[in-house]
Amino acid sequence: MAPRKLAAGNWKMNGDLAALDQIDALARDHAAPGCDVLICPPAVLIHPMAARVSGLADTIAVGGQDCHAAASGAHTGDISAVQLKDAGASHVILGHSERRTDHGETDAEVTAKAAAAHRAGLVAIICVGESEAQRDAGETLDVIAAQLAGSIPEGATARNTVIAYEPIWAIGTGRTPTNDQIAEVHQLMRDRLTARFADGDQMSLLYGGSVKPGNAAEIFAIAHVNGALVGGASLKASDFGPIVSALG
Ligand code: PEP
Repeated sequence: MAPRKLAAGNWKMNGDLAALDQIDALARDHAAPGCDVLICPPAVLIHPMAARVSGLADTIAVGGQDCHAAASGAHTGDISAVQLKDAGASHVILGHSERRTDHGETDAEVTAKAAAAHRAGLVAIICVGESEAQRDAGETLDVIAAQLAGSIPEGATARNTVIAYEPIWAIGTGRTPTNDQIAEVHQLMRDRLTARFADGDQMSLLYGGSVKPGNAAEIFAIAHVNGALVGGASLKASDFGPIVSALG
């Protein structure tokens, strides 16, 4: 079986109830997408967005942007995977570089969160990516291999885990790696996942970092790129829709 194709949008700390109209537009223009489509809004919008998409024949899935490793408890301000699931989420982004930087998240914490997501029945989208200094130092493949080894729990399968390669220096900058650089990292990820997991050859691998309507088709043509994790260009249906079309 080939890996599933996924166009995932990360709204980060953007959007409000009025922004849910973008979901209507996306569903209207892409009523039968040829790939899975996911939007990960801020936590307060998960439930209203899930309610909105369920009225739209469920062609769009809804996800969280982080979860706690515990199912419940005294963790002020945090949200558990169980609560995300209860609110209508099917996926959760974990280990995004902004979480690793802003909140000091380690590979071990990402692993624990992903295991919690799996227990709750969520698909974990686990992010990895090198800094610009690491790329310039020729360390990219070592960094990605170490993050892969350290951030994915045992029990990960192609059904409950997606890996997103997001070079930190490409996020929100308008800069992207060359096709060869993306291909090199995705080949490494495919090799490592296949060596470690029984169905690692079927895990979906996303590229993320300044994906836009104008470069999506070229990026999706690269071997082992099974979709994208999109930040800025996921906020408007007029930008995200063409990316969905380029994939599906
Ligand atoms: C992201 O933050 O996951 C991302 C890829 O952002 P952007 O598409 O804006 O570069």
